[in-house]
Amino acid sequence: MANLARRLRLQETVKERFVAEQEIARNAVLQRQLDVTRERATRQTETLRWAAAAGTAGMLVIALLSYILITNLRHRRQLMRLAAEDNLTGIPNRGRTVALATAALEAAATQRRPLTIAIMDLDHFKTINDRCGHATGDHVLKEFARVSRGSLRTADILGRWGGEEFLLILPDTTLDAALASIERLRVLALAIKVPCTDGETIRVTFSAGLATTADGARSLDEIIARADAALYEAKNEGRDLVRIDRESYHTASTGVRRAL
Ligand code: GH3
Ligand code: MG
Ligand code: MG
Repeated sequence: MANLARRLRLQETVKERFVAEQEIARNAVLQRQLDVTRERATRQTETLRWAAAAGTAGMLVIALLSYILITNLRHRRQLMRLAAEDNLTGIPNRGRTVALATAALEAAATQRRPLTIAIMDLDHFKTINDRCGHATGDHVLKEFARVSRGSLRTADILGRWGGEEFLLILPDTTLDAALASIERLRVLALAIKVPCTDGETIRVTFSAGLATTADGARSLDEIIARADAALYEAKNEGRDLVRIDRESYHTASTGVRRAL
């Protein structure tokens, strides 16, 4: 009986030890798994940190490149503006005026619309410089450009052709309408109040030569040569006058022809 009890206890002890050893083995496996997971988490954190650093650096590079690009574009636009603009008056310079006039002539030819060109030359400008100084002459040029530009339509082109010469391109404009525009400019020029160093005010007048393309089909060189010839006549006939190129003359209304 005592033997049986001892054997049963022994069996119980063996069983308990077996369960304990199994648990120890399972715990060891779990510990290994935990170590692996921890190592993986550390690696992932490190990778994430690198990715975040690379992302930030990438964004900084993109921001820097965008800044450089925008600055370049702004600079380019500024250079283009400076290359096209007359730096005294701010209106298109000769090169830009040619480009604008050529485009306007082509459009007039395509649309078969009239276009009139005027060359305006300030009268006795050398005398203004001699009498009042170059700075005053500059002031007169600036004022003339400013008031003239202000009285024209957006589509009209006013460019500085040379020293005291201006080229006016009036798209979709007959000779009669162009004469009315020039008359407005004549009145505005007379109203310019620039004092001379001798205390007198300066009387600003100009002479103009006009040429028109009734059918829109003329080269720029040709129409400018015609306007120039008309300007020469205006100067010869006493200045402060408007003259029309002979070939364009027939397109003017009878009233205008009689008035000229
Ligand atoms: P006309 O009535 O025959 O046109 O005589 P004008 O004196 O206006 O013409 P001329 O060609 O004899 O002289 C033009 C003057 O314009 C000479 C030149 O020094 C001056 N001029 C040209 N460009 C400028 C400029 O930018 N500023 C100033 N102040 N004068 C200029
Ligand atoms: Mg001149
Ligand atoms: Mg002149």
